[in-house]
Amino acid sequence: MIKLRNIHKSFGGQPVLRGIDLRIEKGEVVVILGASGSGKSTLLRCMNLLETPDRGEIILNGQPLGKPARDGARRYDDRDLQALREKTGMVFQQFNLFPHLTVERNITVAQTHILRRSASEAKSIAEHYLAKVGLADKATSLPTQLSGGQQQRVAIARALAMKPELMLFDEATSALDPELVGEVLNTIKGLRDEGMTMAIVTHELGFAWHVADRIVFLRDGKIYEQGTPDEILLRPSLPHTQRFLASHT
Ligand code: ADP
Ligand code: MG
Repeated sequence: MIKLRNIHKSFGGQPVLRGIDLRIEKGEVVVILGASGSGKSTLLRCMNLLETPDRGEIILNGQPLGKPARDGARRYDDRDLQALREKTGMVFQQFNLFPHLTVERNITVAQTHILRRSASEAKSIAEHYLAKVGLADKATSLPTQLSGGQQQRVAIARALAMKPELMLFDEATSALDPELVGEVLNTIKGLRDEGMTMAIVTHELGFAWHVADRIVFLRDGKIYEQGTPDEILLRPSLPHTQRFLASHT
């Protein structure tokens, strides 16, 4: 579905991604692990061009995005951004809901403004995905009236309402009280069971083991080790993977 080839990204001369090659098949769930600062968020953000890679290619359904520019960089125009953003949904650690809009409006606003769906179609799609995340009764609530776990499920419903082919989750449960983590993880597991293609950054190793087809361990902006959940979580072969796991269990 999406392929990254030799992706590099620096901030202020500081390399953060140093040649990432990653391919995610349709229906595949890839979990990205790594220490804080290893480049996980930057990698996800490059996958939907929230960050522009300095070098390397993003190939979407066989089609390289952008046009070649200087030094192995590529230039992306609005059409590339739109092609990618229409196909990807992202869920962040902070839920980023509009605080002054009802739950339902949070889910319809991008549908009507970006996808030009009619108000009634957007509303019925919002209802569908709210029901799916178990919040059918919260359509008229404001985000502040919901728990953190419920707000995050609204954020997931909002992303799904755009009917993405790829969902990106960046530490979606890290801001939640421990007792609210499970409901969000279960929602993500439900998506997996329906065949959604996903790239997930998480520190929840038990969840990673259940949900991942493949686990990628990032270190210093490179893929350091990757494999099946069993290979990475139960029998990691490299020292920094072993050390990371020891400090997270
Ligand atoms: P992770 O998600 O694995 O913790 P990040 O991708 O957020 O790692 O960050 C990797 C490194 O890049 C960190 O040193 C961070 O400070 C730096 N970084 C990330 N985004 C920016 C930015 N927009 N501007 C400057 N530095 C950044
Ligand atoms: Mg991060």
